[in-house]
Amino acid sequence: METRIKIGVSRCLLGDRVRYDGGHKRDPFLTDTLSIYVDYTPVCPEVEAGFPIPREAFRLVGDPEKPVMITSKTGKDITDVMEKWSQRRVRELEKESLFGFIFKKDSPSSGMERVKVYNEKGMAEKKGVGIFAGIFMQHFPLIPVEEEGRLHDPILRENFIESIFSLKAWRETLSLRKSMAYIIDFHTRHKLLIMAHSVNHYRLMGRLVAVGKGRPISEVYREYEALLMEALKLKATVKKNANVLQHMMGYFKKDLSLYEKKELNEIIDQYRREYIPLIVPITLINHYVYKYEQGYLRKQVYLNPHPIALKLRNHS
Ligand code: SF4
Repeated sequence: METRIKIGVSRCLLGDRVRYDGGHKRDPFLTDTLSIYVDYTPVCPEVEAGFPIPREAFRLVGDPEKPVMITSKTGKDITDVMEKWSQRRVRELEKESLFGFIFKKDSPSSGMERVKVYNEKGMAEKKGVGIFAGIFMQHFPLIPVEEEGRLHDPILRENFIESIFSLKAWRETLSLRKSMAYIIDFHTRHKLLIMAHSVNHYRLMGRLVAVGKGRPISEVYREYEALLMEALKLKATVKKNANVLQHMMGYFKKDLSLYEKKELNEIIDQYRREYIPLIVPITLINHYVYKYEQGYLRKQVYLNPHPIALKLRNHS
């Protein structure tokens, strides 16, 4: 069953003029590129909680672990309003079955990390979390989240997009009748992708799948999902990807000619040294998969985890 990916997003990032000064913070990657593949659920905590446009800017003050939100000129405490509204909104968002959330960085309402928190002397430390973002992450600990600023980092961007596409595949599996056979199939197809994030998680998930038959199936699904989302939060680094590429070479042992082996080894090495982007060895391996009809690798999601037009593997 084909599922459309639905992502929550801080509304000003879509170009809506909802900021305190009547402006927006449109992010072209979100509005022009990612929007082709996903549907957005825009959320502006400040406007939805009843504050006008334009409005006084807000700020966090006090203990970075439990800050208070105030209006920056008149010093009015609006923490209670924002917290109560956020608790209500996250319960509403449960119905949306979101695959992820992209937050506006630095915002006292929407920032995911490193938000300024001011002390009584008016000095700021970047140690806070926006009120809505914090409540969202507590309520949905497994849903992939990112900030638009961090999405400009190519590795973090690929990580996030890969997580939401993997969650899509997992939810499609969930939409089928619950059966160990479907988990095993998912696990087999995602082997290399999971390994690129965490070999340790791949092993734990493998163990869970192996002993799953003797346990209540809903429990196995729940634990598998938690491990999957935990694994995907860990970055797929160059070193981990290079190990997976090397592992894939093993499947062609009997097929590749000496020249082809040498060429593939060299290309993996150049990728490991960060001279060329991941897309180069992946394209060559995809070519060999078709040339030598490598059925097992052909099923590996790792070789095509998200639409190529997003160009996520073109960086070195
Ligand atoms: S950062 Fe959040 S609260 Fe501020 S305008 Fe954007 S969506 Fe609204």
